[in-house]
Amino acid sequence: MGSRGGNEWRCGTCGEPHQGLVTVFGAQAPDVWLQASATERKAGELSGDVCVLEVGGERHYFLRGHIEIPLIDSPGEVFSWSAWVSLSQESTQKIADNWDDPARASMPPVFGWLCNELPYETPTTSIATHVHNRVPGMVPYIELDPSIDHPLVREQASGISLHRLAEINKAVMG
Ligand SMILES: [Zn+2]
Repeated sequence: MGSRGGNEWRCGTCGEPHQGLVTVFGAQAPDVWLQASATERKAGELSGDVCVLEVGGERHYFLRGHIEIPLIDSPGEVFSWSAWVSLSQESTQKIADNWDDPARASMPPVFGWLCNELPYETPTTSIATHVHNRVPGMVPYIELDPSIDHPLVREQASGISLHRLAEINKAVMG
């Protein structure tokens, strides 16, 4: 988990101090994994990067990536939702075959559906995404389809303020 360490600072939006804001929040698994039965999970597979789950006789493949959102007040810094996307078997196989290859950073992006409900006023599950592989050791970058009208998609396109980051911290941690 990353965070903005350092000194307390006073927010220009609300005038309150926001300190030590966490800049990565993540889901441990696709939501369907958490809803699956113990038997389905036992037959499936879940690691920090990939997930395979068979539901109703159909195999589903998931990959974890980062939905990065630029922090407007902190150029060069990002907030990341660590989230899961479902991929076709073909895309999953292609990524698995090249997982340790530095050249995977130049693989063309693959299509995926977002598979986690994030704290937004409209549902985030099934937002269309393009998953960009990066060098080994770096989680793939999830680019939300920019043509979709959704607050999360707008945040990725335009960035968020540190005040908004504080709101996200509050929404996740209470
Ligand atoms: Zn504020």
